Amino acid sequence: MSSTAHLSGRIHEAIRRANRVLLVAHKKPDGDTLGASSSVLNWLLREGKDVRMFCADLPAPCFRYIDNVHHYTTDPSVFDLPYDVVVVFDSGDLSYCGVADHIPRLPAGYTLINIDHHITNVRFGHINLVLTDASSTAEITHGFFEDNNILIDPQMATSLLTGLITDTGNFSNAATNPKAVDAASKLLGLGARLNDIQKYILNDKTIPALRVWGLLLSRLRYNATYDVVSTYLLEKDTVDIPGDVIEGAANFLNSVAGSTDTIMVIREIPGGLIKGSLRSVVRDVSKVAKLMGGGGHKKAAGFTVKGKIEETVNGPKII
Ligand code: 5GP
Ligand code: MN
Repeated sequence: MSSTAHLSGRIHEAIRRANRVLLVAHKKPDGDTLGASSSVLNWLLREGKDVRMFCADLPAPCFRYIDNVHHYTTDPSVFDLPYDVVVVFDSGDLSYCGVADHIPRLPAGYTLINIDHHITNVRFGHINLVLTDASSTAEITHGFFEDNNILIDPQMATSLLTGLITDTGNFSNAATNPKAVDAASKLLGLGARLNDIQKYILNDKTIPALRVWGLLLSRLRYNATYDVVSTYLLEKDTVDIPGDVIEGAANFLNSVAGSTDTIMVIREIPGGLIKGSLRSVVRDVSKVAKLMGGGGHKKAAGFTVKGKIEETVNGPKII
């Protein structure tokens, strides 16, 4: 038996025995953390388990086609209950999912399970199913269901396909691999609603949002010393426009800027913070992100720091 199948079996055993389970998605949840966790939610509801969902930020409205998405709560009082199993999806550490202060105060006796694909994962679980070559946590979760002969219904298939599509940039970025494409093919066969993913995730840009993209594109600069193309967005640029309007911008730039290795998008986010998104073709940008207190993958990483962006004649400066 491979070590992955062995880990899958241990996780299945722990969940099978559990009465109450907590599933955790990471902050500012993306399609992967939501897709993977909601597929497990649907399975556990089918099994009659008492299952709770925590996410420090509520899922964006675009994810409303995902069944049971209303189950996620931002209320930390879910950590007052005793659990047999806690599963964290798509998070390299406990801070990234906003539970570093909550997990230690859980009543003792739980098994913490970490399912993830980030190269910077710190193996915080009692059981760590961390596959850094996987395209997505959804791909790993699909493998978990297959290893344990768990029926994937159309809702679960839709959730998992969401994670695969969002983390591979619709099968176009460096994370795309044969397993991801194979899993997607199987999920379509199982009834995944690709139409919904296209409508709500891929073709979701409003005209005001596209104007912000125009602004972002007009600010592109090339730094020859570091071979980096960068751009930025201020908090005031997106006032009154709902949702994360430049979601996917770093991925898009990485896929179209053929002549350069590295893309960096920095933006002001609420709370006096700056979020950086790094993408590359060859370089290991997770190292840069880590230096800035963040993390991620070799070719897609990010960080969040305190500060503001000042526009200068030489480009943006973080102050
Ligand atoms: P994005 O740029 O799409 O937000 O993130 C790209 C990758 O970097 C994701 O896989 C994400 O997990 C990771 N990442 C982004 N921001 C942070 C951060 O602040 N901390 C950590 N640890 N990882 C991050
Ligand atoms: Mn992911």
